[in-house]
Amino acid sequence: MKVLVINSGSSSLKYRLIEMDDESVLAKGVADRIGIGNSFLKHSGSKKVVIENDMPNHAVAIKLVLDALTNPEYGVIKDAGEISAVGHRAVAGGEYFTHSTLITDAVREQIKEIIELAPLHMPACLMGIDACREVMPNIPHVAVFDTSFHSTMPDVAKLYGIDYDDYRNLKIRRYGAHGTSHKYITDEAAKLMGTKNMKLVVCHLGNGASLSAVKDGKCLDTTMGFTPLEGLIMGTRCGDIDPSVVQYLCNKKGWDVSQAINYFNKDCGVKGISGVSSDFRDLVAAAEHGNARAQLAIDMFSYRVKKYIGAYAAVMNGVDMIAFTAGIGEHTPEVRERVLTGLEYLGVEFDNKLNFDYKADGIAELSTKKSKVKVFIIPTDEEVVIARDTLAVAKYSK
Ligand code: ADP
Repeated sequence: MKVLVINSGSSSLKYRLIEMDDESVLAKGVADRIGIGNSFLKHSGSKKVVIENDMPNHAVAIKLVLDALTNPEYGVIKDAGEISAVGHRAVAGGEYFTHSTLITDAVREQIKEIIELAPLHMPACLMGIDACREVMPNIPHVAVFDTSFHSTMPDVAKLYGIDYDDYRNLKIRRYGAHGTSHKYITDEAAKLMGTKNMKLVVCHLGNGASLSAVKDGKCLDTTMGFTPLEGLIMGTRCGDIDPSVVQYLCNKKGWDVSQAINYFNKDCGVKGISGVSSDFRDLVAAAEHGNARAQLAIDMFSYRVKKYIGAYAAVMNGVDMIAFTAGIGEHTPEVRERVLTGLEYLGVEFDNKLNFDYKADGIAELSTKKSKVKVFIIPTDEEVVIARDTLAVAKYSK
C-alpha cells in the first residue's frame, strides 16, 4: 500500500509517497511559491526534476504533484489510483483531537474551529486538506496532529497558572507541538533499549525547538505551550518570556499586540540575540571568528535546553536516556557539548570525540559504557509517523 504524506504551508506543499510494505520513500518534493508567482515544483522520483508552472492555489499544486508522481519519465506510479490514503500534517489539534483522525466533513469543520489556536499554520493545513480531498475524493484522508502525542500530559503540566474558568471556557492551556517527531524518537528509543519503560528526554532541536519528558512511552511534559512560542530559545522565536514584556514593548515601540507577537515569532531567538542569523551553521562560523554575540546565542540556546533537561529529570525522578534530533540536534556538536557538559550529577558521561566525529549517518550513541544515562542522536522522521498513523486509521475506517 502506498501512502501520500502532505505537509501544507501557506505558500508551499511538501509531499512524500511512501511504500508502506517496507516504509521506503518512492518520491518526495515540494510545490513552492504557491499563490505568490514564479511557482515551481521540485520533484524527486525516478529522476529529479524542477518544473516551473503557475500555481495560483493549493488545488493546482496538488494536481501538479499527482502529474509528477504519474509521469512516465520521472514518476513512480502508473496512476493516482495506486495511492491508498493521504496523511495530512496538522500543527494544532486543540482539545478535540488526541489521536490521528479520519477527515470527514464534520472533522473538517472542527479543524476549522482550531484555526484560532494556530492562525499561522492551520489555514494552510486546511487549504491542503481541501485541495487533496477535491482531487482524490475516493480515498481516506487522515489528519495527524502535532499536538496528539502531548495529549497525555497531566493537568499539572498542561495548565497555566491562570483563572481555571479561562482554561475551561477558552481552552487556554499548553498543547505542545512537534508531537510526531517526539513520538518517532520515543518509538526508536524503545527499540534501542528493548523496552518502552524508561525515563526519556527528547530534544527536538531544529529551527523550531522543543523538549519533552516521556515516561514509559507517554508524554508527561513538553516545552512548547498554547503555541510553539513557549519554551526554548529558537531560531527566531524568543521562547519563555514574562508577558509583561508585551505591554512594555507595545508602549515603547507604538506596536499593537499582533506586531509584538510577530516580533517574538520572527525577529527574536538566536537571530535576534546574535544579530547574525537564525541558522546554527552561520552562528558557529561567526563564533569561531570571534563574534561574541553569536557565541552568546549558542550559549543561551544550549543553556535553556540544559535547564529543561534538569527540570524534566526532577519531574521524572531521573533520566534513562537523552535523545537529540532535528537539524541542530543532529548536526551541531557545539550545542550537544554545551548541553551535556555538567550533567554528571544525573549520571551522564559522554564521549566528546564521538560527538564531534559524528557525520550525520543514522543513530549514534554518545554515552560511554560507564554512563548511567544513555545519550543518543536519533535522526527524526516525521513523515513516516504520519504515514503509519494514516495507514492505521485508514484500515480501521474501512
Ligand atoms: P525546521 O525543520 O524546524 O525548519 P531543521 O530541523 O531543519 O528546522 O533545523 C534547522 C537548523 O538546523 C538550522 O539552525 C541549521 O543550522 C541546522 N542544520 C540543519 N542541517 C544542518 C547541517 N547539515 N549542518 C549543520 N547544521 C544544520
